[in-house]
Amino acid sequence: MKAWMVTTPGPVDGAPVVLRTAPEPRPAAGELSVRVLACGVCRTDLHVVEGDLPVHRDHVVPGHEVVAEVVSPAGDFVVGQRVGIPWLRHTCGVCRYCRRGAENLCPESRYTGWDFDGGYAEYAVVPAAYALPLPDGYTDVDVAPLLCAGIIGYHALQRAELPDGGVLGIYGFGGSAHITAQVAIHRGARVHVMTRDAASRQLALDLGAASAQGAADPPPEPLDAAILFAPVGDLVLPALEALDAGGTLAVAGIHMSDVPPLNYQRHLFRERQLRSVTSNTRAAAREFLAFAAQHPLHLTTHPYSLDTADRALRDLKFGRFSGAAVLVT
Ligand SMILES: [Zn+2]
Ligand SMILES: [Zn+2]
Repeated sequence: MKAWMVTTPGPVDGAPVVLRTAPEPRPAAGELSVRVLACGVCRTDLHVVEGDLPVHRDHVVPGHEVVAEVVSPAGDFVVGQRVGIPWLRHTCGVCRYCRRGAENLCPESRYTGWDFDGGYAEYAVVPAAYALPLPDGYTDVDVAPLLCAGIIGYHALQRAELPDGGVLGIYGFGGSAHITAQVAIHRGARVHVMTRDAASRQLALDLGAASAQGAADPPPEPLDAAILFAPVGDLVLPALEALDAGGTLAVAGIHMSDVPPLNYQRHLFRERQLRSVTSNTRAAAREFLAFAAQHPLHLTTHPYSLDTADRALRDLKFGRFSGAAVLVT
């Protein structure tokens, strides 16, 4: 089969990831074997390919928004069923985090496309316990970004503790943000978007945002909650300043440039909170996919053939599209 492998992590304008021919992976006990139909291109893939996140597996195949068809079944899944392979791939089940329902914090957690081969390939395997049934009503390409961008955004929204009918600020408007904004709007929130890219500002307004302005501009009203999706530590400051008293800023990225020094009065006093978001639990993933089945989400996707994954990664890095890139096999 064809598979992209991270050979020499480094800038994506070099050749850190190469297309090779490899044997089809064989499922271990309890694993599904699947044929990949589509795979989303997530910013985390870029961090793995460029070495911001050191690879955990030599020649790892990136990709953790994998839409696939079951070839050899396991667990409750049947042959031909459409399944998703997400980022979270393994947890220990017995540590204090796992036992209290916070498996996203498990120190033994392992991830698709980082610790194990992912979906930039024609075939893949996944433990049945971590595969996700997918909602109907979405094409293979459109459902792919739900698997990380959607799930992580949903968890970020939980971490931001947006009150019912509240005001949400979104900083950065890529794949995850454009889904999360719609979830918040479905729940009655008023959403303000801050992003540097004019096309993304227009997309935000088209999807129902109340306003859209520059990346660090103040929103037109104080925010009850905010999510920072852009991996830019400098933006933590204006985002905290934009919060109303008691508001919460959740930082959704796995990797971010340094956060500048905070001024207590300007950025934190009056019980404003700054929180990170780490992966997600399987429960949050299933809750989000059930939400997506009930509430139609409009995906802005850009299909690339599997052979052009390197171009998709470069286009993501240099902001050449709004929404989400998806590889089609
Ligand atoms: Zn654990
Ligand atoms: Zn991701």
